Amino acid sequence: MASLLSVSSRSRQTQNIVTDTYRHKGLRKRLVDALRHRGIEDEAVLAAINAVPRHFFLDKAFEEHAYEDKPFPIGNEQTISQPYTVAYMTALLKVRRGDRVLEIGTGSGYQAAILAALGARVFTVERQEALYEQARALLSDIGFSSVRCFFRDGTKGLPEYAPYDKIIVTAGAPVVPEDLKNQLAVGGILAIPVGEEVQYMYRIVRTSAATYQEEMLDAFRFVPFLGGLNKSGK
Ligand code: SAH
Repeated sequence: MASLLSVSSRSRQTQNIVTDTYRHKGLRKRLVDALRHRGIEDEAVLAAINAVPRHFFLDKAFEEHAYEDKPFPIGNEQTISQPYTVAYMTALLKVRRGDRVLEIGTGSGYQAAILAALGARVFTVERQEALYEQARALLSDIGFSSVRCFFRDGTKGLPEYAPYDKIIVTAGAPVVPEDLKNQLAVGGILAIPVGEEVQYMYRIVRTSAATYQEEMLDAFRFVPFLGGLNKSGK
């Protein structure tokens, strides 16, 4: 009992497996093949998925399943997105090395790591304090210390580092926040799932200071995009 208690009270990142074995690499390669089979064609995105150990971002309890194409709980009623969704959204952004990319909804930090693996300069915002702290510590422990993490309400974006070449929202938004559109550089791309029960992916391109081009794509299901902050009771 005593040992059980000590395990469950440890922080999540100390429970993560931080070794990347041949077995993990093999499973990851199979995941990449499955994503290719499902229609992800962007080879740079597939290479990033192949390079980032997703099991580092999951609780040890889910380690066996880390390379299935499924979402999993990460605490605070949130989930790490399904690899297909991560790959789909990342491909929409057409990330180029050196791009300034803003992510809303850090969650586990996995999507941020994928963007960093593509050479982006990543700014990521989370409204749940516990998740923000875990992700920030984990990203720096596993070699992604260049990712800048912020404890913020992402409905307002992150104005002090704007404009961004790309913005990605990883929670389902009832509407597209004007602040996010305003923080896009001209020529920049915003990928955001919009809707209540089911969300449709939107790809919004800022075509000039005053004009945007919007495209509605496939249906997805995300956790909700909420306003305000959730501080952990410390
Ligand atoms: N990108 C994440 C998936 C996160 S799930 C990953 O790779 O693991 C969506 C996240 O968005 C949740 O952690 C949720 O707390 C966060 N979120 C929801 N509304 C938000 C808001 N207004 N500002 C910042 N984060 C928000």
